[in-house]
Amino acid sequence: MNAHHDPLRVAVIGAGPAGFYTAEALLKAREDVSVDIIDRLPTPFGLVRYGVAPDHQKIKSVTRMYDRTCRDPRVRFLGNVEYGKDISHDEILAHYHAVVYAVGAPADRDLGIPGEDLPGSMSATEFVAWYNGHPDYREAAPLLDVNTVAVIGMGNVAVDVTRVLAKSVSELQATDIADHALGRLRSSDVRDVMMVGRRGPAQGKFTTKELRELGELENADIVVDPHELEIDEASRASVEGDAVVKRNIDVLQAFAAKASMGKPRRVHIRFCLSPVEILGNDRVEGLRLERNRLVPREDGSIAAVATGEYETWPVGLVLRSVGYRGTALPGVPFDERRATIPNDEGRVLDRPGGRTAAGEYVAGWIKRGPSGVIGTNKADAMETVTALLADPLRELAPEPAKPQAVDALLASRNVDVFDYQRWCALDRLEVAAGESQGRPRVKLTEVSEMLLRCRPEVAE
Ligand code: NAP
Repeated sequence: MNAHHDPLRVAVIGAGPAGFYTAEALLKAREDVSVDIIDRLPTPFGLVRYGVAPDHQKIKSVTRMYDRTCRDPRVRFLGNVEYGKDISHDEILAHYHAVVYAVGAPADRDLGIPGEDLPGSMSATEFVAWYNGHPDYREAAPLLDVNTVAVIGMGNVAVDVTRVLAKSVSELQATDIADHALGRLRSSDVRDVMMVGRRGPAQGKFTTKELRELGELENADIVVDPHELEIDEASRASVEGDAVVKRNIDVLQAFAAKASMGKPRRVHIRFCLSPVEILGNDRVEGLRLERNRLVPREDGSIAAVATGEYETWPVGLVLRSVGYRGTALPGVPFDERRATIPNDEGRVLDRPGGRTAAGEYVAGWIKRGPSGVIGTNKADAMETVTALLADPLRELAPEPAKPQAVDALLASRNVDVFDYQRWCALDRLEVAAGESQGRPRVKLTEVSEMLLRCRPEVAE
């Protein structure tokens, strides 16, 4: 198959879970393969480092598997290399037999309601990236001089941000939360966090384990109105037929039965309310919501239908947590409607339902949309790798198809490539800084500092 008897050379764009599972599947399937994992940040692991909540360290331990992948001599990590800027689409295709885009879904969805641009209204995507020390979001500090916060959405991200806002500093300081976030949260005036869903308790997207944690907070009582847990006719079948939904309702009912312990903060979970306007002049002062009723659609799913009844809450911060959104990559087809790269089992298509683009593949959230947990990306990546290995190899000119050629290209552009050795040096430095404070690590959050403190000669 391979005319030059070189190994199969694959570029994986994005060093998050989908990228690592893609690399792992390639290594397992073929001996003669070489994989370059390219990321625009110096740090690998994508959302495991910058998305998973800091108090969920166990979930982060999945990086040990990714480290093993990086230590395989057939793999290189090329951090601080931006696809589309430091290396173009055509250059990637000239140097690699195949490319797998695994860039995730970095943007957020908006609500499309008045007031969304006021200071004090932000996306959970920004808030999460800020408290996790993402270099691009160091300045995205939320306004925490407020008593009441509304978190819009009923997914696991909404649960994460609600929990982080409700936790005490003593609970958070044992984590790897960014120092800048810890400082701000220390002086937070937040007392009430209102997590609000547009549909009912049977349509919550959270997982039971995550939901349960909201009732176990040292610093916050949980408040649920039992009347809002009455299951409507339309949802009854889904509660009975779905073990996860049933468990979620059981947990919510236990919350509703819980007496207040007089803790300093309260987490409220509210249902069947859609935000319709964020109120305020210079900053957020309130949130107007419309009550919904639930109506079955023809396909059996449940729709929220506005009733014309309104509530107004005096909130100072609104965090919309209504899902992530993929963004287009230079030179790569993009389906604006789904915010994904159009594909057939991981093979990139020139448009939805269109023709395959030879040598180009996609994995993870940018392939299927922002759904599932970290492990979901494993099967997703396997599907892509199966397609990649089944396809005929693209012919490459013999000369450029060498790792050194990519290195030379990046060097000619003065790209300060952050390889796996340098990441290991940064990792050691962060972990050592955490040790004296009883924390898993203290993150560096500035790219220039990472590059400077972990120069190649220091990392050797
Ligand atoms: P998600 O699970 O898709 O939840 C999005 C929520 O936003 C839903 O409740 C949705 O309600 C609501 N929503 C959407 N548009 C809305 C609108 N216009 N007005 C009001 N509400 C609206 O998304 P996510 O929470 O961002 O999570 C993304 C993925 O990451 C999920 O698969 C999640 O499980 C995963 N994740 C996992 C963990 C973990 O395992 N610990 C942690 C974080 C994230 P409807 O249902 O009515 O559309």
